[in-house]
Amino acid sequence: MAVTIPEPYRIKVIEPIKMTTKPYRQKVLAEAGLNPFLLKSDDVFIDLLTDSGTGAMSDQQWSGIFQGDESYAGSRSFYHLDNVVKDIFNYEYTIPVHQGRGAEQILFPCLAELAKQKGVSQPIFISNHHFDTTKAHVEIAGGQAKNCICNTALNTNTPDDWKGNFDLEQLADEIRKSGQEIAAIIITITCNSVGGQPVSMDNIRSASALAREAGIPIVIDAARFAENAYFIKQRDPNYHNKSIREIVRDMFNEADMFTMSAKKDGMVNTGGLCCFRDDENLFRSVQLRCVLMEGFVTYGGLAGRDMEAMAIGLQEALNENYLHSRISQVTYLGEKLQKAGVPIQNPVGGHAVFVDAKQILPDISPVNFPAQVLCNALYIESGVRAVEIGSLMMGRNPATDEQEPSLFELMRLTIPRRTYTNNHMDYVAESLIDVVKKADQLKPLDFKYEPKILRHFTARFKEIPRK
Ligand SMILES: *Cc1c(COP(=O)(O)O)cnc(C)c1O
Repeated sequence: MAVTIPEPYRIKVIEPIKMTTKPYRQKVLAEAGLNPFLLKSDDVFIDLLTDSGTGAMSDQQWSGIFQGDESYAGSRSFYHLDNVVKDIFNYEYTIPVHQGRGAEQILFPCLAELAKQKGVSQPIFISNHHFDTTKAHVEIAGGQAKNCICNTALNTNTPDDWKGNFDLEQLADEIRKSGQEIAAIIITITCNSVGGQPVSMDNIRSASALAREAGIPIVIDAARFAENAYFIKQRDPNYHNKSIREIVRDMFNEADMFTMSAKKDGMVNTGGLCCFRDDENLFRSVQLRCVLMEGFVTYGGLAGRDMEAMAIGLQEALNENYLHSRISQVTYLGEKLQKAGVPIQNPVGGHAVFVDAKQILPDISPVNFPAQVLCNALYIESGVRAVEIGSLMMGRNPATDEQEPSLFELMRLTIPRRTYTNNHMDYVAESLIDVVKKADQLKPLDFKYEPKILRHFTARFKEIPRK
């Protein structure tokens, strides 16, 4: 019997991509200030910048685009989405939003407000690890964002099945110390910030039990809910024989509400959700903010066609053969790199391979951005665009204005869903292996232009001599 499970789809439409020459790439990257964010996407051969909104939709979803109901109020497509959410997650109340941060900007101020009504001056939000927009929205809402990630996540070399887990002791400590001041616990599945690593069902249950005992609301940050469920099925013997649907139900039973960027496991190019199990009061107050910030409550910043595509995409994400081919492709790239001795976050996560630039370029200091150096070298070598997750993205300490070293200096190779084949992955791996062999020739970077905030998007660089 064949052991390979191929993609459960075939290709109906193709989009040409442009292979360029090395001198051309050197020229356009120089024009882009040595910052791949400033490249034109036409000059990128394989784009692994992000898996957000970059996947391919199915024929069913494209049919849904035609069937979308563009009514301002009470759109049929909204009710379709609302029913799909009830069916998959068993949550009663659904608010569509334009993307994940749309949910964050309408939910967190309401949760912070509830805590403030109880006399808390700066409500605390605790997560396994806040995603960057999640942290920013907690802070804009007057809250404080704390992470309780387990220790094993910090060591990229040592494999562990559940690197997305909460450190439960630390979480229990935080709850003991400041229980009344905690506005919510946020469970991020999979945990993007530590490499798309899964959270185990046991860990979700335990974190949830600690929060419920203390009367603290539980939010799931659900961007990669289906990938997390797939990892649980693979790695937790209690779940080998359960369907992805059953596992998703079990995960979401442990929370009270969720925010979702549907640009990931929602399988759409834009869209998001903010949903509540049964808290009608909170739902009503978040709906009010939705009208102001996103749009009327039955479209939330989306076209009817977008809601239709999302309703279909959420169901497609539960297809186990799809999830298998998706995660296998990321693993395939990771293992190919590992075999050639390229250091990566181990094991490979759900949506990306994280390459450890600190180990590849040990003599380039964090203030000269080793992972950005690696991204640039990979682009010049191959036309592949990756992204820096390290000191550049972290930015300066706002209190001291100093550049402190980040915990990680990673280059993320993020794989869009249903978009590239394993031949593309071979090309990426071979190109990167070549770059790593020549790593001692790569030059450190310094700023030519450093923006005050979110600087990685628009900064410009110059190369400096190696010490
Ligand atoms: C992408 C993401 C978000 C934000 O969603 P957007 O759609 O980009 O606004 C929030 N949390 C996690 C874990 C994410 O990956």
